[in-house]
Amino acid sequence: MKITDAQLKQIYAHAKETYPHECCGFLLGYFDDGGFVREVRPATNQNQERTDRFVISGEEFAQTQFAADEAELDIIGIYHSHPDWPPIPSQTDMESAWEEIFYLIASVHEGMPLNTNVWRLADEGVRRFEWVALEIVDAAELEA
Ligand SMILES: [Zn+2]
Repeated sequence: MKITDAQLKQIYAHAKETYPHECCGFLLGYFDDGGFVREVRPATNQNQERTDRFVISGEEFAQTQFAADEAELDIIGIYHSHPDWPPIPSQTDMESAWEEIFYLIASVHEGMPLNTNVWRLADEGVRRFEWVALEIVDAAELEA
């Protein structure tokens, strides 16, 4: 999956802001060519009790789907942060995952974003995540 440096920084800033809670949001873009992100859209984590969960309201999903349609983009992914935890999907992440969707997880250690992994359900009818390579591209390169 391709993302620009600026978009990744936007996710890191969001993760830093919500620490020690998880941040979450949408990745809008195209599924073509292994997926590429055109827009990062932060969402509100409805869960404020636990630091290892995120919940996005159905209303926010609907609004994002509408905005994506307007921009002729797809919701290709969901991002969230793992405060003081590696960027590896949890059991909950696995259970709530949808097929096709990219799951970008940013690890935040003591408030500082550390590293990121992207995952997607394996295409086998088995609930297992596959690691997806993340390519950080120049915004100018995308326009070319
Ligand atoms: Zn998670």
